[in-house]
Amino acid sequence: MDYHVHSTYSVDSCMSMEEVCLRAIEAGLAEIAFTDHIDIDWPDTTIPPFDVKTLDKYFEDLEKMQDRFKGQLVIKKGIEIGLQPHILDECANIVESYPFDFVIASVHLVGGVDPYLGEYYKGKTKEECYEEYYQEILKLIKSFDRFNVLGHLDYIKRYAPFPIGKTDHLLCISLIDEILETLILKGKGLEVNTSGYRHASEAPMPHPDIIRRYRELGGKIITLGSDAHAPEHVAFRFETALQEIKRSGFDSLTSFSSMQPKFVAIP
Ligand SMILES: [Zn+2]
Ligand SMILES: [Zn+2]
Repeated sequence: MDYHVHSTYSVDSCMSMEEVCLRAIEAGLAEIAFTDHIDIDWPDTTIPPFDVKTLDKYFEDLEKMQDRFKGQLVIKKGIEIGLQPHILDECANIVESYPFDFVIASVHLVGGVDPYLGEYYKGKTKEECYEEYYQEILKLIKSFDRFNVLGHLDYIKRYAPFPIGKTDHLLCISLIDEILETLILKGKGLEVNTSGYRHASEAPMPHPDIIRRYRELGGKIITLGSDAHAPEHVAFRFETALQEIKRSGFDSLTSFSSMQPKFVAIP
């Protein structure tokens, strides 16, 4: 199962829904969840919004794909929703207004600034950058309920302009624990995002030590996603990730229908 793929409904993806499905079948997947972007009130207005504007059409196309690939591939209707403190009601409204199977909550902005941009890191130490980022996540997931898993937890490492240290994933560990405990308390899951393997850290997001920590604290819900924006990324490094997930103490992944989890044994 690949529970994080982007079609051309996301401005940063180059794959049509059909291409995603064909590639998923070729990669031997049984199930995928489309999780195109909704990032309301993106601060940079010079780029097209990361936003599925036409959700009716999105659902129509998802249903077409479900018909077309019936018996070959299970297709779930998902979304990756970007949280910011001032838009949480709007986000909840969207999730409630459509029959989603699966919702990833992601934090792509900290205090309205995209950590993709150098500006975020100016005048701060690595520790300060990480701390602000995790504080923002904690605040957001405490006040938002309409999601199933938290996306790419240590995403900050992807763009931070600091040399990668072997123990960077343990920076702010007590804050990370608090995030994991909040997820567990709310019955929410943790996404394992393999796009991290395409980055200098060469580790999934979050790092396997954090996946294990989620398990130790009592977490049960894990989804696996490639965050594919191009055909070669679908199911990227899934064999390695599955081994890491197993080593972290999980014997199942989670699939979702109508936002309800179902545990699927890892072969
Ligand atoms: Zn994301
Ligand atoms: Zn994504």
